[in-house]
Amino acid sequence: MSTFLTTAERALQGLTRSFVDELIPWEVEAELNRGEIPEDVAKGQKERARELGLTSINMSERLGGPGYSMLSQVLIQEQTGRVTNALGWVVSTGPSWIEEVATDHQIEKWVRPTVDGDIHECYAITEEGVGSDVDGIEATARRDDDGYVLNGVKWHVTSANLASYVFFQAKLTDGPNTGRHVLFFVDMDTPGVECVRIPEYSHTYSHHHWEMKFTEVRVPAENLVGSEGDGMSFAHAWFRYERLMIAARCCGAAERLIEEATAFAEGREAYGSKIADYQAIQFMLADSLTELWAARLMTYETARAIDAGVDVKVQHAQCSMAKLYASEMANRVADRAVQVFGGRGFMRENVAERFYRELRVDRIWEGTSEIQRLIIADQLRKRGVVPLT
Ligand SMILES: Cc1cc2nc3c(=O)[nH]c(=O)nc-3n(C[C@H](O)[C@H](O)[C@H](O)COP(=O)(O)OP(=O)(O)OC[C@H]3O[C@@H](n4cnc5c(N)ncnc54)[C@H](O)[C@@H]3O)c2cc1C
Repeated sequence: MSTFLTTAERALQGLTRSFVDELIPWEVEAELNRGEIPEDVAKGQKERARELGLTSINMSERLGGPGYSMLSQVLIQEQTGRVTNALGWVVSTGPSWIEEVATDHQIEKWVRPTVDGDIHECYAITEEGVGSDVDGIEATARRDDDGYVLNGVKWHVTSANLASYVFFQAKLTDGPNTGRHVLFFVDMDTPGVECVRIPEYSHTYSHHHWEMKFTEVRVPAENLVGSEGDGMSFAHAWFRYERLMIAARCCGAAERLIEEATAFAEGREAYGSKIADYQAIQFMLADSLTELWAARLMTYETARAIDAGVDVKVQHAQCSMAKLYASEMANRVADRAVQVFGGRGFMRENVAERFYRELRVDRIWEGTSEIQRLIIADQLRKRGVVPLT
């Protein structure tokens, strides 16, 4: 555990850690059953998360959430990162970016039930031809009487199988804001919304990533998020938040991997000694621990800066640095952990094997490592070293 946490922060960290320790025993069952655990167990975990104040941890008190500081959210998310197979996703994070723009109708219909954990959202932004370069999306929104008509095909829509509504991003085809981005709430059961394909991914999660098609989907104007042209700014706010939370979860994953690999190395003998006695093994563990600490300090410090109200562009760069470093660190740690476990590290029942696959996407989603570097370099050239570090 890192230093310089208040008593309340340590208590929150400890409470989440204990909860995650209850989830860990279900990992192998989830891995071997397409991400699923028994329904009553999953329901019990959801209720327990709610009791502990771990539902919608990023939502404000005004919207019925716990109103945690960014650092507290990082502490919670770090713990959820210790468990594989997305079992930690029972600690939910709603669309916190929406608070400033959501209308009363949107709050009542979608946001509050999400905060209460009764319904879930998913995001449809990426397309077959466009991921990193979000500005290039081809999905369209056409004005029509009192609303809009949406068309497009979206890829990798995470949690679509569990969602009641989807945030759909498109470009306007007519009116004064032609070509600008718009974002909509779309109920999943709206006519014209369909799942085209449920592809298999490297990880084994009960949350699927659908390819979705939207054909002449009619939505009323009240489903528009903010104003016409605002679409991209919401994506940026969400990216910033989620990048920091990915960094936190990667720290949690690395901590678990180092603990498990160290325990194994202490118990495993080869050539008459514990493998932990061999420097080749010690160096892998020592490098992993050192890098974890560096990533954790970056992550906590970024959260503290956000809580202190640092400039939003600085936040953007620091969230990118934290995500870049922590996700690459966690991948290195997972690779070393597999090596320490030897042949066991290649078995799906082994935690290192699962993390080795699962952590790979943290270098891709919410902006690839290359995109994080572009953001960081751009801010470096605009602001210089001192404000960013
Ligand atoms: C499991 C999973 C879940 C996802 N969930 C969602 C979701 O819920 N909703 C959603 O909308 N999207 C989702 N995504 C999409 C994800 O955000 C994109 O995959 C990601 O942003 C990268 O886009 P891409 O796959 O199109 O790759 P591309 O943008 O095509 O990039 C391909 C490669 O080119 C590199 N590259 C691109 N541009 C540059 C550049 N300018 N300089 C240097 N290198 C560059 C990239 O770094 C990458 O290595 C998910 C993806 C995965 C894998």
